[in-house]
Amino acid sequence: MLGKLKELWQSSDFARENLNFRETVGLLLEKYGYDRDTLLLGKEISCPELISDFEEAVKGEPFGYILGKVPFFKENFFVEEGVLIPRCDSEVLVEKAIELIPKNAVFADICTGSGCLGISVLKERPDLKAILLDISPIAKRVCEKNISSLGVADRCSFIQFDLFNDTLPQCSAILMNPPYITKEEMKKLPRNVMREPALALDGGEDGLDFYRYAASSKDFKNKLLIFEIGYMQGIALRELFGGGDIVPDLSGNDRVFILQ
Ligand code: GLN
Repeated sequence: MLGKLKELWQSSDFARENLNFRETVGLLLEKYGYDRDTLLLGKEISCPELISDFEEAVKGEPFGYILGKVPFFKENFFVEEGVLIPRCDSEVLVEKAIELIPKNAVFADICTGSGCLGISVLKERPDLKAILLDISPIAKRVCEKNISSLGVADRCSFIQFDLFNDTLPQCSAILMNPPYITKEEMKKLPRNVMREPALALDGGEDGLDFYRYAASSKDFKNKLLIFEIGYMQGIALRELFGGGDIVPDLSGNDRVFILQ
């Protein structure tokens, strides 16, 4: 079977840019209950499901969707087609939120998707409560699954929420990782990102639709704001809100906007 997988791998221009062969095979072996190194140590197995997952991966299906879960910050989060896959770039936002949200506060996590930001903060800060909000019914199902599997159901709830039309519930801090990809960038996304929901990526013409609305809404006034932003949006955010700080991610790109 290893030979077949290597052949698939080599015939694809995609896999090599995004995934490492050994890790890919290892994670799929684990998914089907085998020891990570089984095949790589030369033991033969027959697992047609593993081959078909592998085929999907080299065709560009995001690996998180194939496995059904992804590690983020300190936990594993369930994901499925229709919610954005958590990125390690977002972990710096979690760190800032843990540091800055005042004691015993209630915070909102808007565009929560899988719930990875808000739930990660709650796990580290037992004094806090949260409202996790997203417009998508798939996000609702996946986020509620993560809320209960990660044991934070007593301190948070999910609300289906349309930022542009609904009123935000009472809270004193707001986390938000909204769609922020520009119209031009949306046309050139890597193949795997194209399989993720446009609803979670498409931020309008200049990618700033959600931030522009937030800057004009009274729901966002006098609150601690911690937003994820695109790597070229720092200056625009500071202009929209008339100030604020920008924090880079681990790759050194602008990633988080903070207004205190
Ligand atoms: N960081 C994501 C990406 O580059 C985008 C997430 C978002 O639009 N909020 O694909």
